[in-house]
Amino acid sequence: MMTEREIRVRFAPSPTGQLHIGSVRTALFNYLFVKSGGGKMVLRIEDTDEQRSTEESLRTIIDGLRWLGIDWDEGPEKGGIAESYYQSERVEIHREYAQKLIDAGKTYYCDCTGDEGPTTCNCKNKDQEALKNSPNSVVRFNIPDGITEIDDLIRGKVKFNNLDIKDFVILKSNGNPVYNFAVVVDDITMGITHVIRGDDHLSNTPKQILLYKALGVEPPIMAHLPLILSPLGGKLSKRQIAKPQNTPDSQNYVPAVNVEWYCENGFLPEAFVNYLARLCWSNGTDEEFFTLDELIEKFSMKGISPTAALYDWKKLKWYNGNYIRNLSVERFIDECMPFFIKAHGKEAVDEKGEEWCSKLLPLYQERVEYFAEIGDKTKFYFERPVEFTPKDIKKVKWNDETRDLLKEFLLDICAKSDFTVENLESTINQFTEQKEIKLGRIMQPIRLAVSGTRATPGLYDVLNLIGKEETIERVKWFIDNVDVI
Ligand code: GLU
Repeated sequence: MMTEREIRVRFAPSPTGQLHIGSVRTALFNYLFVKSGGGKMVLRIEDTDEQRSTEESLRTIIDGLRWLGIDWDEGPEKGGIAESYYQSERVEIHREYAQKLIDAGKTYYCDCTGDEGPTTCNCKNKDQEALKNSPNSVVRFNIPDGITEIDDLIRGKVKFNNLDIKDFVILKSNGNPVYNFAVVVDDITMGITHVIRGDDHLSNTPKQILLYKALGVEPPIMAHLPLILSPLGGKLSKRQIAKPQNTPDSQNYVPAVNVEWYCENGFLPEAFVNYLARLCWSNGTDEEFFTLDELIEKFSMKGISPTAALYDWKKLKWYNGNYIRNLSVERFIDECMPFFIKAHGKEAVDEKGEEWCSKLLPLYQERVEYFAEIGDKTKFYFERPVEFTPKDIKKVKWNDETRDLLKEFLLDICAKSDFTVENLESTINQFTEQKEIKLGRIMQPIRLAVSGTRATPGLYDVLNLIGKEETIERVKWFIDNVDVI
């Protein structure tokens, strides 16, 4: 049973698209708030927009929350004290509450269309009985004069002059409620004590507070979270990230605004949660890493900054990279494997064998910031590199002398039948000692020849994994085909 003092919050997404980072951040803070102080979290699906609400979007919301470990106490798949947690199934309740306002004389019928708003119309003073019976009439809330003030847990006191709020519609001509009304009725009937949501809803708040007052109900405590802005400027929106300047090498890169993308590209939920929490919250120290349990333990509303936060791709990757490095090798292999298979194909990976994979993948634990990066970074084990940039060729000091050294070295390594890491190390060491050259002198061109890049894990491991024959083929090809520049 719901007791009077029980803290109840809600996350109320509209299933009209993918799960946006900003929404999930709202869900996270609702979750942290109830988990840290006790109480219940309700998941309410605000699906009154029939045209735009979809099953698929609902699935994305539920899957996204589950992926991140943000669990709700009441709502879809759980049930609870409410008859339904889908707003579209609550219309009768909304109408019942609208009737209370109508009966109390706090509304009026209006059949003005288009732009003639309530500021110009005179419906208030017209024959209400006649308007009530007109099929085009809507029910408008008669805004009282005065000042509406909220004491927001994040933004402090905010005042609104009621004159700035027009008499808004609560029931449309088809008898369906509008958003601001449905939300208030649902929050009242679900016993919501704290509304924690994005700053973009702040302008709705005075309208909602006035409705609470008109219904004679104490409004919930409000907390408006700062928006997450795009480093490209403006809101973090899909449309915005589609801009041409949003390229992976740009300083302000934003790959996606939907949480699904991060899941599909190999971000760890614990890193993603940590990043989102730290984006607008701190515990007063410069501590960066918090597990979900630590966040619950340390969370307080006071730690939320009211200023908008900037989405930061580099920081998010940095978090994820840190979490990846802290995984056990076994979990790293398990998590990384699906991305590895996706990139190279099951057949190719199977052909290499389990042992080979479990030697190769751990070499990349320090080298990927998210799992989807494994594909590009390991491409050269499956495909011979044939393109080399002039910059790399210069950097490895490719000249005739180096070419001769490599030729000689090839003869040397050819002679070794066994291509183990130890053998490779001793052969290369012996060779460079004998020639009185630095290791890098041949290591760098060999690395470039076999991988097409200048950055790989330790060369002995790489050569061991590529195998003797293939290494020799690649180095030979490089010697014969890459010109000195
Ligand atoms: N359904 C609204 C949205 O998705 C949220 C309503 C609220 O939190 O009050 O933006």
